[in-house]
Amino acid sequence: MWREPTALDGKYAPAFRADMTWVDTHCHLQLDERDPAAMLGRAISVDWVVAPGVDAESSAASVRLAGQFPDKVVATAGLHPHEASRWSEQSAEIVGLADVVSAIGETGLDFYRDLSPRAEQVDSFRAQIELATAKNLPVIVHCRDAFREVHDILETSGEGERAVLHCWTGGRKWTKRFLELGVTFSFAGPVAFETGETIRLGAELVPPDRALVETDTPYLAPPPHRGQPNEPAWVALVGEALAQVWGVPPETAAAATSATAERIFKP
Ligand SMILES: [Zn+2]
Repeated sequence: MWREPTALDGKYAPAFRADMTWVDTHCHLQLDERDPAAMLGRAISVDWVVAPGVDAESSAASVRLAGQFPDKVVATAGLHPHEASRWSEQSAEIVGLADVVSAIGETGLDFYRDLSPRAEQVDSFRAQIELATAKNLPVIVHCRDAFREVHDILETSGEGERAVLHCWTGGRKWTKRFLELGVTFSFAGPVAFETGETIRLGAELVPPDRALVETDTPYLAPPPHRGQPNEPAWVALVGEALAQVWGVPPETAAAATSATAERIFKP
């Protein structure tokens, strides 16, 4: 039985260890009203973060943050599936930013909340895969209740190796099918939730050189911080859960996922 860490485990502030640093590959610092310098300052065991844009404005903000913290923040430009119906109005600005970012996205499909019509989500997703291909960049993909559709679009595009599936929640079946496409999987707080058994069964199948860790700040805080605004410092808690799933020491998971992040976002 999986046990979520609690405050009593002394994990409120993961201890700094020089031999164990992490990369938070999905951290919306620019969507958070808290001071990014303070949040990065608290994240003493975090080497650097990726700050995904979700629309033109937040993509421009991501680029500004990366300018302000060049060693700490990597910028992206993209339109979230929730906002996909704005693609025609926003695409020029996002395409314009594509030359100064390290990834396209976050894009993808969200058929759980359906905040944009599905056909428009598909169009926006396809257009952003094409943009990533044209610029030779990775593409950050949000996938909720749309495993089959995301799989088919990546397969048809032939660009699976470019895809980073953020906050991966697929079980064995979908993890296997996406592994065949050459994608990279990014794990977030839910891998450590008591209810995360399906995610852990999928994670067991993912080799460390195809795995990343993220917080999805300010959302999805890992245990024992569930319900609080998330922050990059807590990526270590996600990584420790993943290490437990793999049956390896946390420093092994930290080194492997950080090397994967370097390869993808800082080639
Ligand atoms: Zn996100």
